[in-house]
Amino acid sequence: MMYTEYGKTGKHVSKVGFGGMRFDTDRDNEENAELVRYARHKGITYFDTAPGYCNDQSEDIFGLAFKDMPGDYWVSTKGMPTEYDTADKARAAVEKSLSRLGVEKIDFYHVWCLRKMEHYHLAMQSGGQYEGLLKCREEGLIDHITFSSHQPGHQIRSILEDGSMDGVLLGMNILNFPYRWAGVKAAWETGCGTVAMNPLAGGMIPQNEDKLGFLSTREGETPTEAALRFAISCPYLDIALVGFTTKEQVDQACAVAEQCTSFSDQDLQQIQSHLSSNMNEICTACGYCEGCPQNIPVPAYMQFYNSKQMFGTSDDKMKESLPGAKEWGLLAYRQAEAGDCIECGMCEEKCTQNINIIDRLKEIAQWEKESD
Ligand code: SF4
Ligand code: SF4
Repeated sequence: MMYTEYGKTGKHVSKVGFGGMRFDTDRDNEENAELVRYARHKGITYFDTAPGYCNDQSEDIFGLAFKDMPGDYWVSTKGMPTEYDTADKARAAVEKSLSRLGVEKIDFYHVWCLRKMEHYHLAMQSGGQYEGLLKCREEGLIDHITFSSHQPGHQIRSILEDGSMDGVLLGMNILNFPYRWAGVKAAWETGCGTVAMNPLAGGMIPQNEDKLGFLSTREGETPTEAALRFAISCPYLDIALVGFTTKEQVDQACAVAEQCTSFSDQDLQQIQSHLSSNMNEICTACGYCEGCPQNIPVPAYMQFYNSKQMFGTSDDKMKESLPGAKEWGLLAYRQAEAGDCIECGMCEEKCTQNINIIDRLKEIAQWEKESD
């Protein structure tokens, strides 16, 4: 395992972090906790979770694992400024996370899911979340205040230049790096910690290996391994946060981290020549947009649309694949159709990838109509 310092915090962290949003919730918590302990045994020392992840089980799973997990490790969790909009609410959220995680201190506490500057200003307002977190830090309940962001590079830079945060968690991977590079470099240049989420594009890379062969620049390397190597070896990133479900995935990421060399500029140019700007707007299956008042399974529909977005699959082919997706695929458990959208905008407001969900649903509704 490779290790590095998280920004200027003096904390040495593993280059691979354990992202706790992809546990298999059909397993019991003890089985998932064993996966966490296994990752620690393999050398991973950074563990990231949040309330709500995995049907709100993720923090409890880590809490179970931490009870008897040997060795040093760092714990990261989060709270949204839109939910905890006062100092008191922020403190209550920290106390709840501490209790669920079973730890005395949270090493990295993220102001969670900033999608626009208003969210940052909300966190920073007098009597708001940040004030509550500062108090928690003074009392030793948290060590570093950080943030997670889905904003453009210049906004990330302006937050970091305020000096209020010790690090940032942001989305970058081998498919979207030409569009996210500025934000990552901005973070790195300020000397703050930088952590990449979604190094496998929310599972899209392993699921589409047959079409992504161009990512592999080494003999025998799979596209998934190439994507992991990209994030782990990126000089501007301290940690690549990988969402693990199985021990095999932990093994794969740790093996990549054992023999990791950076991509050359030539390799990156070569990869970039295959990418279109469409790769910047793919659904990562994060699920933040859930809760449609019409019960439309927005994440499932947007993952279905990914095929068109990522590879330019024709409308005819998309239409052809729709019945299969509805019968046994991504859309099998839907309670409503794309055409039931009333355009309330709630899902777009929450989408971490700024996807024009309503427009995509309209296209899919048209395919639904024509394939009926
Ligand atoms: S815009 Fe449509 S899909 Fe999105 S939450 Fe509203 S009704 Fe549901
Ligand atoms: S549509 Fe956006 S918010 Fe919803 S799952 Fe996909 S990326 Fe996440």
